[in-house]
Amino acid sequence: MKQKYYVNNNAQLNGDHEVHVNSCPYFSVMYSRIYLGEFNSCEEAVREAKKRFPRSNGCSTCNRPCHTT
Ligand SMILES: [Zn+2]
Repeated sequence: MKQKYYVNNNAQLNGDHEVHVNSCPYFSVMYSRIYLGEFNSCEEAVREAKKRFPRSNGCSTCNRPCHTT
């Protein structure tokens, strides 16, 4: 099932730009975000996000398989 993915315009304290789906509890917390598109997997979404922010990372809540520390 495809989901809509977004990347946070604002980096975390460690410099990562987190990638979220729109159902994530942290979605509404993002003050500024970029819509990446609909993808079947977080891997595809993070790959797309990295075109904008080389330091993109999956959210540890909604994209745990794509979250790296
Ligand atoms: Zn999230």
